[in-house]
Amino acid sequence: MAENIYEKYGNKIIDGKRIAAEYRAEIATEVAAMERKPSLAVIIVGEDPASQVYVRNKERGCAEVGMTSLLYRLPTETTEEELLRLIEHLNADSDVDGILVQLPLPSVRDGGSGIDEGAVIAAVSPEKDVDAFRAENVGHIMLGDAQLLPCTPAGVMVLLERSGVEIEGKRCLVIGRSNIVGKPMAMLLLHKSGTITVAHSRSRDLPALCREADIVVAAVGRAKLITGDMIKPGAVVIDVGMNRDENGKLCGDVDFDSVAPVASKITPVPGGVGPMTISMLLRNTLTAARLRGKK
Ligand code: NAP
Repeated sequence: MAENIYEKYGNKIIDGKRIAAEYRAEIATEVAAMERKPSLAVIIVGEDPASQVYVRNKERGCAEVGMTSLLYRLPTETTEEELLRLIEHLNADSDVDGILVQLPLPSVRDGGSGIDEGAVIAAVSPEKDVDAFRAENVGHIMLGDAQLLPCTPAGVMVLLERSGVEIEGKRCLVIGRSNIVGKPMAMLLLHKSGTITVAHSRSRDLPALCREADIVVAAVGRAKLITGDMIKPGAVVIDVGMNRDENGKLCGDVDFDSVAPVASKITPVPGGVGPMTISMLLRNTLTAARLRGKK
């Protein structure tokens, strides 16, 4: 991606950094008015470098909006029983509003004890499930009455809304069907009355599906899979992907250089969807604190 993209495509770029900063400032104002500050417990097992960065960013995000973060660093070889015991303790701790277990957990190949991620997700109490991964919360996303929102897809919705993108009646293509991005993304767009197609690795003729879409959300994990010739002129393109290109540079699923001239709006990587994801985690922690306060 060219260095001067903001100069070249400034009017087209959905600036995630700016929108996330505004959004966090709003959260900070709400937190400042609260007597008891929301608190987020973050558990990290092992030494995965990417996970360390994500956890550090989450801690920073909490500090930025005046929330408390409690970090639990567990060794790689931690057993499922030990992890579940800690989660149980945090579930019962009335000072903790949100619990987040950083995924992925270490695989057996990397020295992990083979913890079942499904069991870990199910162990977090539903009202502290700030990732919205539990089946109950996923069900609420489906019903359209979720209080705790799926962070990355909800962040995309904020970006679209604050960039003035209309969704109603538009043809939306979500590429990717993971539980944490693709599926809930499709559901949030559907609740805003978009006409939704979900593509995945078995979909036939992805370029043709892309060319029909007014809004494309790429959440695949393949560097520069989506190119300018696949995009309908004037489409809005949201790039969730976080990959490394051939030079080790961070890049998305979208080939920015060829897509930006064709699209009407586009998110860059970095500086697009990424900054919003943590903002939505902070929003969920605030919501969880409020909901618990009402009990
Ligand atoms: P995932 O669980 O690996 O899912 C990838 C999806 O892409 C799958 O549904 C897969 O289809 C589909 N896919 C793979 N190859 C494809 C192809 N050639 N054409 C069409 N679809 C294809 O990944 P994820 O967790 O959803 O994450 C997706 C990307 O978003 C990754 O780069 C990840 O790092 C990034 N991400 C970013 C953020 C952020 O905050 N910015 C947050 C979460 C994830 P099948 O189901 O058929 O295998």
